Amino acid sequence: MKWPFVKINKLRLVSFIYWVFLTYMIAAFVWWYVSLEKQNDEIAAVKFQSIQLSDPALKQKVKQIQNFQLRKTKQFIGEGLTFLFLFLLGAIYVYRSLLKQLRYSNQQQNFMMAVTHELKTPIAISHLNIETLLKRDLDSAQQNKLLEATLKETKRLDALSNNILLASQLDMGQYETNQQELDLSKLVTEACQSFQERFPLRLLNTFIEASIFIQGEALLIQMLVNNLLDNAHKYSPAHTPIAVHLQREQQQLILTVKDLGIGIPVNDREKIFEKFYRVGAESTRTSKGTGLGLYLCKKITAFHHASLQVKPNEGQGSIFTVTFANH
Ligand code: ADP
Repeated sequence: MKWPFVKINKLRLVSFIYWVFLTYMIAAFVWWYVSLEKQNDEIAAVKFQSIQLSDPALKQKVKQIQNFQLRKTKQFIGEGLTFLFLFLLGAIYVYRSLLKQLRYSNQQQNFMMAVTHELKTPIAISHLNIETLLKRDLDSAQQNKLLEATLKETKRLDALSNNILLASQLDMGQYETNQQELDLSKLVTEACQSFQERFPLRLLNTFIEASIFIQGEALLIQMLVNNLLDNAHKYSPAHTPIAVHLQREQQQLILTVKDLGIGIPVNDREKIFEKFYRVGAESTRTSKGTGLGLYLCKKITAFHHASLQVKPNEGQGSIFTVTFANH
C-alpha cells in the first residue's frame, strides 16, 4: 500500500522544484530586460549631455539618439520574446517528458508486481496439486480433476511467458517474422474452441466466415485473438455472452470481439494500448493482468499491416476491431 504514495510525493516534489526553477528563470529574464532598458536610457542620457545646445545640427543629433534608443528597445524586446518563446517551448517539452517518464516507471513497477503475482499463483497451485497427487491415494476422477487444474495453470504460465518474451523481442527489434498464407477463419475458430475448453461456462457466440486467408504468422495471430478473448472474459461478468465475428466487408477483413463488460472510459481508450498501462488505480483494481496484452495486440496488428481499434459496445461493454486489408 505504501509505494503509490511515495510515487505521488516524488511527483509533487519534482513538480515543485521544476516550477520554482522555471519561475526563477523567468524572473531573472525579466530582470535582465529591465536592466538593459535602464542602461539604454542611461546611454541616451549621456549622449544627450554631450551635445552642445549651440550646435547647428542639434535637432538632427537628438533625433539620431532617439532613433538609436528606440531601435535598441525594439531589439531587446524582439530577441527577448524569441528567447522566451524557445525557453518556454523547451520547458513544456521537458515537463511533459518528465511526467511521461514518471508515469512509465510507475507502470513498470506495477508490471513487476503484477508479473510476480501472476507467476507465483500458477506455480503455487500446480505445486499444491502435484503434492496432493503424490501424497494421497485419490480415485481416478479426483486425479483427473487435479491434473486438469494443473494443466490449466501451466497454460496460463505459458501464455504469460510468451507475452513477456514477445514484448521484449519486439522492443529490441529482434523479432523475425515468418509470414505465410494463413487460413484466418480456421485459426479464429480454433482459438474460440480452445477458449471454450478453458471456460466452458461462458457463452461464446461466433460468426466466422469460411475461407478467409491472410499473409501472416500463425503464432502472432493466435496471441492476438487469445489476448482479445481473454480480456473480454476478464472484464465482463461471467453470465454475459462474448461475440466473435470474422467477415469480409468490401476491401477489408474485419475481426471483432464484443463483450458486455465494464467498458473503457473515454480518456483511457488510447492509453490502454501503451505498454504496462492498466485502467484505474493499482490499489483498488481487482483484476489480474500485466498491461502487456493490448500493447502486443497493437504491435501484432501493425506487423500485419492491420489496425486495432476499440469503441464502446451499444449499451454496455467494448468492441475491439481488427481490420486487415483484403488483397
Ligand atoms: P491486462 O493484462 O491488464 O489485461 P491489457 O494490455 O490486455 O492488460 O489491457 C490493458 C487494460 O485495458 C486492462 O488493464 C483493462 O483495464 C483494459 N481493458 C482491456 N480489455 C478490456 C475490455 N474488454 N473491457 C474493459 N477493459 C478492458
